[in-house]
Amino acid sequence: MKLAHALIPFAAVGGAWLARSQDASVGYDDTPHLPAGRDGKAWRVHDKQRPVPPVVTPGEGTKPPSDAIVLFDGKDLSRWQTDSGKEAGWKLVDGAMEVNGTGNLQTRDGFGDCQLHLEWATPAKAESESQGRGNSGVFLMGRYEVQVLDSYKNRTYADGQAAALYGQKPPEVNACRAPGEWQSYDILFRGPRFEGEKLVSPANITVFHNGICVHHGVDLLGATAHRAVAKYTPHEPKAPLLLQDHGNPVRYRNIWVRPL
Ligand code: MG
Repeated sequence: MKLAHALIPFAAVGGAWLARSQDASVGYDDTPHLPAGRDGKAWRVHDKQRPVPPVVTPGEGTKPPSDAIVLFDGKDLSRWQTDSGKEAGWKLVDGAMEVNGTGNLQTRDGFGDCQLHLEWATPAKAESESQGRGNSGVFLMGRYEVQVLDSYKNRTYADGQAAALYGQKPPEVNACRAPGEWQSYDILFRGPRFEGEKLVSPANITVFHNGICVHHGVDLLGATAHRAVAKYTPHEPKAPLLLQDHGNPVRYRNIWVRPL
């Protein structure tokens, strides 16, 4: 049976029109080959055999899309433990998890290349200053920190403010909301590649803070360090996502990840 073709103007380059259909007969089998992609296959240009991507239902607003792994939905800490393998002890409050001095939390599962969404809020009552105000952090693979800090009218060193790649690069702009307000990070992360002891390619990160791109495809220098230049130590291709307990009652909610 032949399905009706929906012809949608996609690009008018050279008068070309792109046929979009679920019909497997759509496409070509006499066009040149593209370089092999991540699936290891060298498809033809407009290859009729090339599998179409799975359908994913987008989330409303910042809700997780249908194929995301929900790491925290406000109800329980079942996907988390301390970084020493003990039961997660952060406080559950108003649909959020709150740092309470019981130690860093990390996911039970490991992740490598991924898209990550999470929301955070620093304490509504701004106390202390610089690195002491609303400090926490999102550590991809347990090593690469995107800083969480109350950077609303709170001066600190540039590579340590909110959304900084801590100790390496300040965000392009300060997109911080006021203390107590919910803020978001959307992160695209590519893990480093190692061959034995050798670094083949560095980790790479793109970060949106409250919807504003503050890092675009930045290569990381290595694992986050304090008062030292970051460097790489080879590690496994997947590692837990870690949230830092820096002693300030920072809250997190709506955490989801899509491995890429
Ligand atoms: Mg921190």
